[in-house]
Amino acid sequence: MLSAFARLFLDAVAPRRCAGCDAVSDRSICTDCETSMHALPVPAVRRLRQGSGFAAFEFVGPVRAALHRSKYGGDRQALSELAAMTASRLLGPRLFTPDAVVAVPLGPRRRRQRGYNQAEIIASVIAEARDIPVFDDLVRIRDTPPQSARDEATRRGNVAGAFAWAGGALDGAYVWLVDDVLTTGATVEAGAATLAAAGASLIDVVVVAAVS
Ligand SMILES: [Zn+2]
Repeated sequence: MLSAFARLFLDAVAPRRCAGCDAVSDRSICTDCETSMHALPVPAVRRLRQGSGFAAFEFVGPVRAALHRSKYGGDRQALSELAAMTASRLLGPRLFTPDAVVAVPLGPRRRRQRGYNQAEIIASVIAEARDIPVFDDLVRIRDTPPQSARDEATRRGNVAGAFAWAGGALDGAYVWLVDDVLTTGATVEAGAATLAAAGASLIDVVVVAAVS
């Protein structure tokens, strides 16, 4: 992770590049990538153990590249733009406005390494676009291993009991649980089970992109 000073220095000497295609661009996502992202179909709704999973994009092409860069390359501006596109693509008849949004938390170690939680940035952009509150009371009570290369049963075992709710009762609230990418759903389903136990009546999962 670059220091703020190093970032300023690099911004001064190196041209900014598009997070989607790496072309030199004034914007964090260039106009060509934005156009091709808008042309991508919105994926089908995925049934989850609690509620449904809504993704703005399939995890492909420039969306995949931009998410990767915003997760591992520190590009928060690209992440904010993807989040704004997600909010606008999921507006309207597809989804009712919830009472609150909640971000999938990172474990403290991974949050320290990365410096921020990408799900929190996405949740705050969506909340602002929809004028709804963010609840930040979902906490990860233990770090879990990276989920990338494990079978589904192992993933579910890894995340079971990983979350706790530190806020007041959710009293029948409708909540969007927000993350960057939906893969098997094991992580968000564990988070949703915690929100249900805290009193939420309906939890839908909202992500930028889903791996089909
Ligand atoms: Zn581009």
